[in-house]
Amino acid sequence: MPTSEKICQLMSFITIKSLFLQTDNKPEFTLQIMKPSALFLDRDGVINVETNYVWRVEDFKFTEGIFKLCRKFQSAGYLIFVITNQAGISREYYSENDFFTLNKWMLNRFSEMGITITKVYYCPHHPEITGPCDCRKPEPGMIKQAENEFDINLPDSVLIGDNISDITAGKNAGVGTNILIQTNTIPEYLLI
Ligand SMILES: [Mg+2]
Ligand SMILES: [Zn+2]
Repeated sequence: MPTSEKICQLMSFITIKSLFLQTDNKPEFTLQIMKPSALFLDRDGVINVETNYVWRVEDFKFTEGIFKLCRKFQSAGYLIFVITNQAGISREYYSENDFFTLNKWMLNRFSEMGITITKVYYCPHHPEITGPCDCRKPEPGMIKQAENEFDINLPDSVLIGDNISDITAGKNAGVGTNILIQTNTIPEYLLI
């Protein structure tokens, strides 16, 4: 057999062998693709109509299309997280308990609409009052925390915010798709 033919045979053997090796590695591969993707939503201006430091139930109005958007992502297998800067707590415009009360009410409304919000992350800090922190957007802290707690696949995840600091936080964390929307307006193309 000429040398070139021998080399060809050897090459195909190596190719077949590496194919089998890939098959052997399959369980690990399957695990990797099962990491959940997430939809990260800013709160004020995305979930509810922004009216400057919303903390009362009676001031909380869901934006048009938000439930439809969440259902769409939920059906596609995304976990939904809220990531929200709540400097009003540091500023003492409202207390942490006020935030919890409104948050619980909000989660119940989502639940009634068949939507599960996996977790709400909030930053109560304000740099001028409490000093710098790593959770206040544009820092990626809240997103990284979700990644650690729920083993999120960030490159396949989506973030929606109405402020450039939301987008920067997403990019800093490694979120694959970061969508800047106009405040209080869920774009039609996200609902189709
Ligand atoms: Mg906002
Ligand atoms: Zn913070």
